[in-house]
Amino acid sequence: MTLIKSISGIRGTIGGQVGENLTPIDAVKFAAAYGTWIKDQLDKDEYRVVVGRDARISGEMMQQLVMNTLVGLGIHVIDLGLSTTPTVEMAVPMEHADGGIILTASHNPKQWNALKLLDEKGEFLNGEEGAKILEMAESDTLTFAEVDDLGEISVNDAYIDLHIDEILDSKWVDVEAIKAANFKVVVDAVNSTGGIAIPRLLEELGVEVVKLYCEPNGEFPHNPEPLKEHLGDICELVVKEKADFGIVVDPDVDRLAFIDEKGNMFGEEYTLVAVADYILGKEKGNTVSNLSSSRALRDITEKHGGTYQASAVGEVNVVTLMKETKAVIGGEGNGGIIFPEFHYGRDSLVGSALFLTHLAEKKITVSQLLEEYPAYFMSKNKIQLTPELDVDAILVEMEKKYAAEEVSTVDGVKIDFSENWVHLRKSNTEPIIRIYTEAKSQQEADSLAEKIMEEIKTIAGL
Ligand code: MG
Repeated sequence: MTLIKSISGIRGTIGGQVGENLTPIDAVKFAAAYGTWIKDQLDKDEYRVVVGRDARISGEMMQQLVMNTLVGLGIHVIDLGLSTTPTVEMAVPMEHADGGIILTASHNPKQWNALKLLDEKGEFLNGEEGAKILEMAESDTLTFAEVDDLGEISVNDAYIDLHIDEILDSKWVDVEAIKAANFKVVVDAVNSTGGIAIPRLLEELGVEVVKLYCEPNGEFPHNPEPLKEHLGDICELVVKEKADFGIVVDPDVDRLAFIDEKGNMFGEEYTLVAVADYILGKEKGNTVSNLSSSRALRDITEKHGGTYQASAVGEVNVVTLMKETKAVIGGEGNGGIIFPEFHYGRDSLVGSALFLTHLAEKKITVSQLLEEYPAYFMSKNKIQLTPELDVDAILVEMEKKYAAEEVSTVDGVKIDFSENWVHLRKSNTEPIIRIYTEAKSQQEADSLAEKIMEEIKTIAGL
């Protein structure tokens, strides 16, 4: 059982002891701190917050607790019910609301839930704001509204359709070309809200949809993180249905992965590479992803005459650097597409529509498309350390050891060699170091990881 409180929010398992899990009391305390923070931002007569959730089993309970806590603070709530993270992000400015909350533990299994907090632009709070809310949740000074000043809840379930309408109206999405291509696509939405949104979007685009796990009942039929080892069923079904490709999303629909027509992974890392290739082909510009994402995005960006930069891991860091560098597209290698023409948040609906346009214009198969991109392979490992070891000191030693190479210490230690790279990050919650490597073959990525892990063990005296 776990409760993780960090500057990016509160996340935990349902049930058990208060303070050790995400119990109703923990959720109420945190929602009350967020609502109070919203009210402290601006002196207004009326405050409005948009609230939506993914389809996990605890979602409705959590949403009722959170919404009624805001009502108790005198805040008006727009209840989106079953929704997606990008839909709530778009609804906040469309509603002229002061903030938003999404109840979702993203790619985590069904016993987890979390509160994702948004500002008045529908963007994630920064570290400073998150820290302030954590501090307020622990203080005993939260004050609620008098009986005549309570907030109200109004239901609005139109936002998935409005989100889709925005996509269909965009100059970046060629609806006619997609319709003419007569695509057939299998969708695995892990029985969450992607099962509502993605098929609806595809049908509007004239795509024949085969639904796999599209019932939004929160009973995840496989581990919901869109990684190869969890996606055997859709890989088989794409082949059996002779589909053009498969679309996989996580429970709150901000991570997107594709399966090619042969039933092979297109590779989560290549979702952003393909979509960026499409956008940069229309408009020259810069791109951003995080330090743990594939170098393929850098290569594609430079090929199109733009500049690539890498941020610290964390969506808010990617977004901050995208704004600083005026990036035309960015995101995360884990299948997160951020296209600022819509909003500054990872959006699998936007990503799917852009990928379909790209494919319709190129008139090639998904496996042929992958062959056009520089081939890189990753190895993701971790080393378990003992709590008494100074992880920061170990990282400093590694930084010194490779001082002659291109080293970044923006987030852990990233060492860029000419042909490959390694990224070392410590965990904030457990005594481990994560070791990600990327190279031009799987064998090379694995052996680079082995070598670095041996070096860390030597420094640590393990
Ligand atoms: Mg997610």
